Amino acid sequence: NPSTPSNFIKNVITEDLKSGKVKEIVTRFPPEPNGYLHIGHARAIWINFTLAAEFGGKTNLRFDDTNPVKEDTEYVKSIQEDVKWLGFEWEELRFASDYFDEMYNRAVLLIKKGKAFIDDLSADQIRETRGTLKSPGSNSPYRDRSVEENLELFEGMRDGKFSDGAKVLRAKIDMSSPNINLRDPIIYRISHTYHHNTGDKWCIYPMYAFAHPLEDAIEGITHSLCSLEFEDQRPFYDWVVAECEMPNVPHQYEFGRLNVEQTLTSKRKLKLLVDEQHVDGWDDPRMPTISGLRRLGYTPEAIRNFIYETGISKTQGVVDLQMQEHFIREDLKLKAPRTMAVLNPLKVVITNYPEDQNEWFEVENNIENPEMGNRQVPFSREIYIEQDDFMEVPPNKYFRLFPGNEVRLKNAYFIKCNEVIKDEEGHVVEIHCTYDPETKSGSGFTARKVKGTIHWIDASQAVPAEFRLYEPLIKAEESDEEIDETEEKEEKTFLDQINPNSLEIVQGFIEPGMKDVVPQDKFQFFRHGYFNVDSKYSTPGHPVFNRIVSLKSSFKM
Ligand code: ATP
Ligand code: MG
Ligand code: MG
Repeated sequence: NPSTPSNFIKNVITEDLKSGKVKEIVTRFPPEPNGYLHIGHARAIWINFTLAAEFGGKTNLRFDDTNPVKEDTEYVKSIQEDVKWLGFEWEELRFASDYFDEMYNRAVLLIKKGKAFIDDLSADQIRETRGTLKSPGSNSPYRDRSVEENLELFEGMRDGKFSDGAKVLRAKIDMSSPNINLRDPIIYRISHTYHHNTGDKWCIYPMYAFAHPLEDAIEGITHSLCSLEFEDQRPFYDWVVAECEMPNVPHQYEFGRLNVEQTLTSKRKLKLLVDEQHVDGWDDPRMPTISGLRRLGYTPEAIRNFIYETGISKTQGVVDLQMQEHFIREDLKLKAPRTMAVLNPLKVVITNYPEDQNEWFEVENNIENPEMGNRQVPFSREIYIEQDDFMEVPPNKYFRLFPGNEVRLKNAYFIKCNEVIKDEEGHVVEIHCTYDPETKSGSGFTARKVKGTIHWIDASQAVPAEFRLYEPLIKAEESDEEIDETEEKEEKTFLDQINPNSLEIVQGFIEPGMKDVVPQDKFQFFRHGYFNVDSKYSTPGHPVFNRIVSLKSSFKM
């Protein structure tokens, strides 16, 4: 979808263009390079890029890299890759850190205007004197330092004269403001930390809430779109733009965060999963990162359609995981070839089929999409079927293979089970069947009917493959409605919610025609669901398949 559904931000933009308040729409997507992008970010990306594009405007990709402790070039790289892969093109690639000089100068301007001061209180003391929602905070004893002293100390901070935490620069606003964000917020802190972009040039770094409005103003952003947790920051955002006398005046608008059932959308938590090796990296197919979803087998189209359908609103409800899955099924339905794979194989010998014979069946690649053409599937005396498709003692209404029963082999013949071969421990190792040549698929045979159809792979040409079946990483009922929990304690407890059965690895076989599949090839395996060739563990001749999603869903749009 090239445009957004009707929404409140679109109304604002339409008005702003009509009234001449702005001539061109400029938005930005401003990730902090402290982790990989996740499905929640896809909403922010989509909103920023699509809204600008539908009004002929443009969007910057800006790295909000003002906190060097957590940032890394690995993230800078992955974020660019993911935004591109999702199908969006940025106008300019920017780094907030490129504006450090200008930010410093604007901070000096605030000091000169008597709007900022150097505070010697510790971070803890500042927090304690901030007050609460119900009670005002108290002024710092350093609040009335002279402009000259403040300028000198700020320069000293910049020149490395003080250690981390010894001093901060605070905006001088109002310690009794009902909005706590306006109670003399910290705007610069000391951190003797190497920065991925500016190296050792700086040992003071601007706080996000101060830096962000300046970044927007510097880039001429007209509409600064962000998620709802920044709503309370808006008054300070406007204060910064005004008091710093920025020539361009951007405005902030907030939309609801995207939360998906059983899905973590906090980089902090996702990073913990990676660091503590609960997953095999940021792109583990169970991760809700864009790279994880890509490796699992999601397509950009499916993600965009899903995001579109969740819309833009101010509410932050939790979206059904089934809705996300619905969109990948929809996208692959007509695109993915439908082939056969046997996951837990059991050998079947067709005793009346000649040993030195084989034949090929012509099979449609996708019965719902004839344009995908046909392929050849071999058949011979020995085949593999699923262990689940045979039972020695079947329960009621079991229509698959059991002694004495006849089933249809998909695209081939009817076979009937005559004998069960077991090993010394009594495990079934092989089934002996006979086939009826009259029943060949496509021959129009109607003399008798069978109730079960099962799939199979010709044993003589079967290609071994591995199948990885996933369940959500987080147990049901747990989602991430995370807005602002910063406590270490919280981070630990979500680890208790990890599903210990999120990955099952199964060995089996695929059709010989699939032996040259390459990573990211996608298939629908008869009865098993949609699968994607894994880009990390596949080797030539031995593909590993990730199950993207099973076939069935109770989800209704
Ligand atoms: P985290 O808190 O997990 O580190 P973040 O929100 O700080 O994530 P940023 O890199 O700062 O991550 O986010 C870039 C943009 O993406 C921000 O504008 C933010 O509002 C938006 N965003 C992040 N998570 C979501 C989400 N779940 N739904 C919608 N937008 C989101
Ligand atoms: Mg952030
Ligand atoms: Mg955040």
